[in-house]
Amino acid sequence: MTMLLQTAIPLAASYIPNDLRPTLVGLSREDLAAILERIGVPEKQRKMRMRQLWHWIYQRGKTDFALMTDISKEVRGQLEEAFVLTRPEIVTEQVSTDGTRKWLLRLAPDATGARHEIETVYIPEEDRGTLCISSQVGCTLTCTFCHTGTQKLVRNLTAGEIAGQIMLARDRIKDWPDDLEANPKPPSSGRYITNVVLMGMGEPLYNFDNVKTAINIASDGEGLSLSKRRITLSTSGVVPEIVRAGHEIGSSLAISLHGTTDEIRDKLVPLNKKYPIAELMDACTKYPGSSNARRITFEYVMLKGVNDSVADAKRLVKLLAGIPAKVNLIPFNPWPGTAYECSEWDVIEVFAEILNNAGYASPVRTPRGRDIMAACGQLKSESMKVRASER
Ligand code: SAH
Ligand code: SF4
Repeated sequence: MTMLLQTAIPLAASYIPNDLRPTLVGLSREDLAAILERIGVPEKQRKMRMRQLWHWIYQRGKTDFALMTDISKEVRGQLEEAFVLTRPEIVTEQVSTDGTRKWLLRLAPDATGARHEIETVYIPEEDRGTLCISSQVGCTLTCTFCHTGTQKLVRNLTAGEIAGQIMLARDRIKDWPDDLEANPKPPSSGRYITNVVLMGMGEPLYNFDNVKTAINIASDGEGLSLSKRRITLSTSGVVPEIVRAGHEIGSSLAISLHGTTDEIRDKLVPLNKKYPIAELMDACTKYPGSSNARRITFEYVMLKGVNDSVADAKRLVKLLAGIPAKVNLIPFNPWPGTAYECSEWDVIEVFAEILNNAGYASPVRTPRGRDIMAACGQLKSESMKVRASER
């Protein structure tokens, strides 16, 4: 049964109306050191205090400065006066029949005073739990099969709002190290959230710097401690940023391919007109660190009569030659107003078989959370860009 909680869920670190104190969540080590300098912490203490603060914020997930017992009372007081440790706020939580949870989150006011909304999805599985996070409010791109693509870009998320989604999910499902003693551990992994995918709203490579800072926080061994291999950045094919992302971010990579000829892909992913398939595949061959042990995922949404023929499958095999690749076949998830339909199941099976026979692992992604519009490509929020004259 789908459960919809309409009321705000009280979390320790909700936003207090009219509170102008900025959050420290999302700041890098360097930024935290600069803050400590600003509040007058002497230079010889600064490095130690920065480490302590980092530990309490990112490893322990604390939202109250008073709990940071190894930091002097005086410094804690100064921090409390000037800063908060809030994360985005949960507006609604929906729980699917399959256990998938979708949160509609409201962000703290931005420079214009607007409080925008995004969605984050948690997908529990037997041996792992995946958190699907957003990188933008809306999207500049207009992939024709994607619900988010019908929502104009409102703004980029800050690093704090990106990393904050992981922290908020840990708050909500009690997945901080300190919670695990009280909360029974999941059988195999010892953690609820084991994987993070940037497959929510937005194009992560169009918000490069903030995504990079957030992934650094998420993968820091003394921070959120997720392995970079278990963080996957999904892009619709922003070619000039792909190799750079490999060097500077170093997460796993997923490419939203969806079409095997420029003619088809131009229609599905209009960005293809700017960066056609040949250039995209060339960038993939140059992605640093990819190997058979660490393959690039190619996402391929199955659209009835559009890209699901035997000829498409054969062309896909040819395109992938020479790239350490796996294919993720995604049954199309419908949304109100779409003209597309999902391919028939036997058609998907034939397609997968051709890929498997060519040696490519190509699991069909089981749609999760469709009943609450939480599946791939179904996310959208009501946030709209406010014109200067309307503010
Ligand atoms: N903007 C990035 C990441 C977000 S989309 C990107 O495009 O890669 C995450 C994945 O969901 C992408 O592969 C996207 O193409 C796919 N997707 C979008 N709409 C979908 C839908 N309606 N059904 C199934 N998958 C969809
Ligand atoms: Fe944006 Fe990705 Fe949706 Fe395309 S598929 S519109 S890039 S979120």
